Parts: sequence; structure tokens; C-alpha cells
Amino acid sequence: MLDALENFLLEQFTDEAEETMAKYRVKVDKDTCIACGVCYSTCPDVFEPDEENKSQVVSKYRVSASQNASEGIIDDSVADCAQSAKDTCPVQAITVETIE
Ligand code: SF4
Repeated sequence: MLDALENFLLEQFTDEAEETMAKYRVKVDKDTCIACGVCYSTCPDVFEPDEENKSQVVSKYRVSASQNASEGIIDDSVADCAQSAKDTCPVQAITVETIE
């Protein structure tokens, strides 16, 4: 009985923590990307090279992909890393927007 109560409280706490976690939309403009590799060296948790060494969002976070763009949804756990990659991109091909 006590275990069930503990599990219930733990689930409630976890759900609340997940609900309060911010979400961000990350986008790579592949037409602008010059395949320099800085972003996926800086933040391999979010970015990786595609077959042309242009950047794309890793499959864990990717929500859409096309010839021209790669988009993903990330949370706070990797937001600072994605922001650093955005800031260091020499051609401003990355955007990071808060969505929640
Ligand atoms: S840092 Fe910018 S230009 Fe370089 S690979 Fe990443 S998105 Fe492309």
C-alpha cells in the first residue's frame, strides 16, 4: 500500500516537472548552411552532419526534414547547447525559438 502511494506521488511529481519544462523549436536553414561543422562539434546532442556535411537536427529531436531545412523540438536539457551552436554558426543558419 505504501509502495503504491509512493509511486503515485512520484508520478505526479514527474508529470509536473515535465509540464513545466520549456520547449524550443530548432531549425537549420540548409540553403544557408555552409557545412563548416561548428554546430555539430559544439552541440552533438542536437546537431549532426547529413550526407553532404550540412547540419541537421538529430533523429531523437527531429520533427521534419526536407532538402532545405531540418527542424526539431528540444527541451531545457539541451537548450543551452543548441543556443551555443546557434551563436557560433558563422552564417546564422540556425534558429532557436521558445514555443512553450
Ligand atoms: S555552424 Fe552553421 S554553417 Fe556550420 S554546419 Fe552548422 S548550421 Fe551549417
